[in-house]
Amino acid sequence: MRVAVVSDIHGNIHALDAVLQALAGEDADELWCLGDLVGYGPRPNECCAAVAGRASVCLVGNHDLLALGCEVLEGEFNPDAAEAGRWTRSALAQEWRAFLEGLPSHAEVDGAQLFHGSPRDPVWDYVLSREGMVEALELTSAPLVLVGHSHVPFAFSAEGELAFGPALAGAEAELADLRWVLNPGSVGQPRDGDPRASYLVLDLGAGRASFRRVAYDVELTQREIREEGLPETLAARLATGV
Ligand code: ZN
Repeated sequence: MRVAVVSDIHGNIHALDAVLQALAGEDADELWCLGDLVGYGPRPNECCAAVAGRASVCLVGNHDLLALGCEVLEGEFNPDAAEAGRWTRSALAQEWRAFLEGLPSHAEVDGAQLFHGSPRDPVWDYVLSREGMVEALELTSAPLVLVGHSHVPFAFSAEGELAFGPALAGAEAELADLRWVLNPGSVGQPRDGDPRASYLVLDLGAGRASFRRVAYDVELTQREIREEGLPETLAARLATGV
């Protein structure tokens, strides 16, 4: 089975559309989403609709919770993210609010355990360090552990092999019989210096993980961010992928 894995879409429908178009040529049987469909970006409803119509598994992320109105959470976010969270809360249609409210914080499917954050804290914790990657394997048992949240793609094996960031663009990892922690990177707001949308294709039968990047119309999303009056920094960062 071939599975496309996406995460951290963040209301960027043009990035998501580019990924979905690229996936048309990937022969993927399923789409899994690791959360943060909304927040930061200008098109939250369209992103929810696109994921709801295609994903067989979808998790909730911290920005999704913020958009659902947990005002007590605002202190957990920087001012721009909190402002975008308030905007998203007012822009989100009832249908997609209900969809986000129904999402689980973690899932286990086809030999993989899925988290937005980490096994320690599925929504809020970041897997950024080698220690965090080791811990993610220790706290789980499935052959594959998938996490998002940091917006930086990485592949870490139980033997300590690690690759991350733009170096993974177009790279393939042979999963063999090892356990792995993988992060597909971010569709809608990459932070590894490569502004292209990031995603992952898993061939579970062949034991192969393929990291992909696809260019999208960054300027169009930037224009929409400005039209909605969202913070300028959220538009500017998309050009450089930081
Ligand atoms: Zn995110």
